Amino acid sequence: MSWDFETEPEYQKKLDWADEFVREEVEPLDLVWEHQQFVPLEGKRREAIQPLKEEVRRQGLWATHLGPDLGGQGYGQLKLALLNEILGRSSWAPIVFGCQAPDTGNAEIIAHYGTEAQKKQYLQPLLDGELFSSYSMTEPQAGADPTQFQTKAHRDGDDWIINGWKFFSSNASTASFLIVMAVTDTEVSPYQGMSMFLVPTDTPGINIVRNVGLYGEPMNEGQHALIHYENVRVPAEALLGGEGQAFVIAQTRLGGGRIHHAMRTIGLAQKAIDMMCERALSRTTQGSKLADKQFVQGYIADSYAQLTQFRLFVLHTAWKIDKYNDYKKVRKDIATAKIVMPTVLHDIAWRAMQIHGALGTTNEMPFFRMIHGAGVMGLADGPTEVHKMTVAKQVLRDYRGTDDMWPSEWIPRKQEAARAKYAEFLEHEVGNL
Ligand SMILES: Cc1cc2nc3c(=O)[nH]c(=O)nc-3n(C[C@H](O)[C@H](O)[C@H](O)COP(=O)(O)OP(=O)(O)OC[C@H]3O[C@@H](n4cnc5c(N)ncnc54)[C@H](O)[C@@H]3O)c2cc1C
Repeated sequence: MSWDFETEPEYQKKLDWADEFVREEVEPLDLVWEHQQFVPLEGKRREAIQPLKEEVRRQGLWATHLGPDLGGQGYGQLKLALLNEILGRSSWAPIVFGCQAPDTGNAEIIAHYGTEAQKKQYLQPLLDGELFSSYSMTEPQAGADPTQFQTKAHRDGDDWIINGWKFFSSNASTASFLIVMAVTDTEVSPYQGMSMFLVPTDTPGINIVRNVGLYGEPMNEGQHALIHYENVRVPAEALLGGEGQAFVIAQTRLGGGRIHHAMRTIGLAQKAIDMMCERALSRTTQGSKLADKQFVQGYIADSYAQLTQFRLFVLHTAWKIDKYNDYKKVRKDIATAKIVMPTVLHDIAWRAMQIHGALGTTNEMPFFRMIHGAGVMGLADGPTEVHKMTVAKQVLRDYRGTDDMWPSEWIPRKQEAARAKYAEFLEHEVGNL
């Protein structure tokens, strides 16, 4: 029987090191180089950040999501979860530890489906943290329903020509290559008729029309590109996996990405609880500390309860991924974590903001960014509603309907059966009365 909630002392030491390192060395990067995580390192930024990455490597914590064959430690998802909940405190931390989305997911599919040549060209530099990638799937007219995608690729001799529009291709403007999903066969179902291509961003015909920013960011200086692909010519070798394999590949990619977001969200929500508690213990109003007011105690208790449930669920899901080594077997759990994540972050950040009063709503505190982040979590990698449908379908698979007029738990019938089962004793009891 192994059902253990303890971290090995050796790994705990590494986590303790990471915790201090992130707080002291990495969190300050969020304040000096905001929004620049996905801009390739150069000049002073390289001078400051490269030694931090090297320190992470020395500690054996670089790219811990990867197996040793790909330059990682082979720690698996559970250990990554424990690390990621520390990294979730800072936007720069995943970069410094070599495990940032969307590159982790992109690396995963190249490792899984790429040819040797593709791995050499794209995977190795990606794993070394020397370049960035972008996943170009969503379109302006369709996101949650990929069967509506219109971007097409057709053959021209040995080459493919890609045409169409893509929206929200994160980091496209600083990435070295794009993973583009396109319709390659209109005669079959979209599930068999779409393919993925690895396309260098400097290929002629890739036009970044706008860099859409999230709320609060300056217009046209965001990270999420609207791209017009106009007669983008790529060789046959640009195809990732087989022709028509895009859906299968997308599922591989999104499985890991979603649970990694959930792991980091634990760290961010914990940061909000830390701030909530510090404020509750610091501020006095109407004769007592905020911490002594029952409403505030309610906020703290609800936040602790919500985060603890979520954390245990995410850790359990990570454990299952390691156990089965097959995302399909853990699909229901990953989708469940994805559903719960925005609410947990939103609720906790909102309470923390409320406890901070007016200051909490300002750009001098991070709460509104967290709340906005919760909104993003409900959309990126698929809307909550769609994941709920996935979970419900998977849950229902374990059940059968009944043709009977009454539900199988209908008490009168069960009671009759129970009485018949224990008739002997019941008669005896009556006889004793
Ligand atoms: C910060 C951020 C980064 C992103 N990065 C990338 C990226 O790098 N690459 C990429 O390709 N995409 C990316 N996306 C896009 C993301 O995958 C899509 O936003 C998402 O799939 C939803 O698509 P949509 O925005 O077109 O919304 P729609 O598909 O139009 O859905 C809008 C709303 O309709 C409802 N809805 C949709 N379908 C259903 C349904 N079946 N049942 C019930 N209700 C439904 C939901 O409320 C949903 O939120 C990113 C998004 C965000 C916010």
